[in-house]
Amino acid sequence: MSHTLPELSPEALSRYSRHILLDEVGVAGQRKLSAARVLVVGAGGLGSPAALYLAAAGVGVLGLADHDQVEEHNLQRQIIHDTAMVGRPKVESAARRLAALNPQVQFRLHGGGVTPANAVKLFSGYDLVVDGSDNFPTRFLNTDAAFLAKRPLVYGSIFKFEGQVAVFDPAAGGPCYRCLFPEPPPPGSAPNCGETGVLGALCGVIGSLQAIEAIKYLLGIGESLRSRLLVVDALTMRFRTLNLPRNPSCPLCGDHPRIRRIDPAAYVFSCAAPAAPPGPDSTGIPIEVSVEEARRLLNAGTDSAFLLDVRESVEVEICRVIGSRHISMQEVAARIDELPRDHQILVLCHHGSRSRQVTDFLRAQGFPAVSSVAGGIAAWAERIDPAMRRY
Ligand SMILES: [Zn+2]
Repeated sequence: MSHTLPELSPEALSRYSRHILLDEVGVAGQRKLSAARVLVVGAGGLGSPAALYLAAAGVGVLGLADHDQVEEHNLQRQIIHDTAMVGRPKVESAARRLAALNPQVQFRLHGGGVTPANAVKLFSGYDLVVDGSDNFPTRFLNTDAAFLAKRPLVYGSIFKFEGQVAVFDPAAGGPCYRCLFPEPPPPGSAPNCGETGVLGALCGVIGSLQAIEAIKYLLGIGESLRSRLLVVDALTMRFRTLNLPRNPSCPLCGDHPRIRRIDPAAYVFSCAAPAAPPGPDSTGIPIEVSVEEARRLLNAGTDSAFLLDVRESVEVEICRVIGSRHISMQEVAARIDELPRDHQILVLCHHGSRSRQVTDFLRAQGFPAVSSVAGGIAAWAERIDPAMRRY
């Protein structure tokens, strides 16, 4: 941070004493925090704990960007809001709570949220961005804007009982979100298309982890989650860390980037947006194979391919391809060690959307030969095994 570090008042020394007592923080570290400007995108499940802890820690300027209003069903996890604020703008509700918590922090409210028009300029006004967004358009927009503004992005996401955290800081040599997911998921495949459940207290864990990563970054201490993805499974209570290499063919931070500015049209995709056309890549392994080709590869003897079914358990109970291995899409990251690296992996889902996303993910994880089965098990039932039950 280039600005001059402020002196700490007697009140600040008292308020932050339990941080100052930490050797890794001290008065010098607390002064760094007091000079820091952090933007929290989304005053929701992740933004609530992240903003609360960042405000409590005494960051100098805390920005909040969210265009939504508080709804009753938010209160199960968005702990910064309360019942009396239902119907009010989230930034207003959050700011009221945060100002009561720590009046020493300067709050900046961005009630219009992050938009293609304001994103890069908005992010440039902060030292670091905490991404608590809950939808793909905003997540991709935040990713691109943070890269273009050269600001680190503390990523967090949550789905049902699983959460993920990473620090994307390509300016410092690490990967970005697009290294993991180069393009938005195909239509209908996004886990947050439609309403899904989410464990409230897990938001507290993931948002708090984001606050920790933000504070460590601002202080320059410890080992960050840069180049690593933390996957938290609350059901089994397992925390796993996956190495996340930079992807040289990343469309944003790769060697030949395609994305050089914010194009508003690139973020209007939704659950119904058209997918990018499939095509072969530099490995020569096609990103998609037909069901006929999949059957041929599966019957190729000792070199036969490994069929990974990424549908949900309820779908597998209806029908499955004999010999396939079931790991639902949401579990793939956490169970990646169960997948072979010496065989071609064919990824199968219902219609070929989720399998495309998993294919991209596994390729980004360094699996050399992964293809999605086009049309999914629906096409398999139609063209390979007409006796198969359909849904
Ligand atoms: Zn990248």
